[in-house]
Amino acid sequence: PTLPYDEGNIFARILRGEIPNKTVYEDEHVLAFHDISPKAPTHVLVIPKGAYVSWDDFSSRASDAEIGAYVRAIGLIAREAGLVEPGYRLLANVGEDGGQEVPHLHVHIFGGKPLGPMLA
Ligand code: 5GP
Repeated sequence: PTLPYDEGNIFARILRGEIPNKTVYEDEHVLAFHDISPKAPTHVLVIPKGAYVSWDDFSSRASDAEIGAYVRAIGLIAREAGLVEPGYRLLANVGEDGGQEVPHLHVHIFGGKPLGPMLA
């Protein structure tokens, strides 16, 4: 990993149940919940339960089962939120230049309005 995993990061605390969240999906490997500061009518964060800093860390170290569960879950959550027909956006910020603020891998799901060419 680029950085050692910080067990005190906010999503680690959510996974330990120390901070409440509005869960939209959970399985053995994955948790998804509403972003606390939504930037679209639907703004969900999907995280692996394992201790992975970023997309880079996850894609290089996670098991095929974890990766499969994660990719499947992201699709399922978007489908169940009714976003497929209107369309939606997936985003993963990685590292400093990527603007990643929380050092636990998360994919953003945005939807519920026309999002334009890029989300600022
Ligand atoms: P990043 O910039 O790292 O890709 O995105 C971090 C996201 O986490 C932001 O959209 C921010 O609003 C969200 N976030 C930060 N703290 C919390 C929290 O305590 N609970 C939830 N649900 N979302 C959070």
